[in-house]
Amino acid sequence: MSQAKKCVVCGKPITWRFWICEKHRKEYGDNLRDWPEWLQFLVKDTRREQYSDERQQRLLDMIDDLDPKHLISVDPQDEDRF
Ligand SMILES: [Zn+2]
Repeated sequence: MSQAKKCVVCGKPITWRFWICEKHRKEYGDNLRDWPEWLQFLVKDTRREQYSDERQQRLLDMIDDLDPKHLISVDPQDEDRF
């Protein structure tokens, strides 16, 4: 799967590691969550093709669902120190 990266909106070949070309990035912004639903769907669909490995796919889905506040992990052993 060594297909060249393409803008998921217009199909224009892009060299950097992102989903859309510079023009569309300016139009929709950097944050995938701010993008219209159809565009997020396009990205997820494209990603599904690129990462057919199921385990990797699950990891990516996890990252998508991750809220920044959940990134601060609490070590359960901390409670024992009181
Ligand atoms: Zn584009």
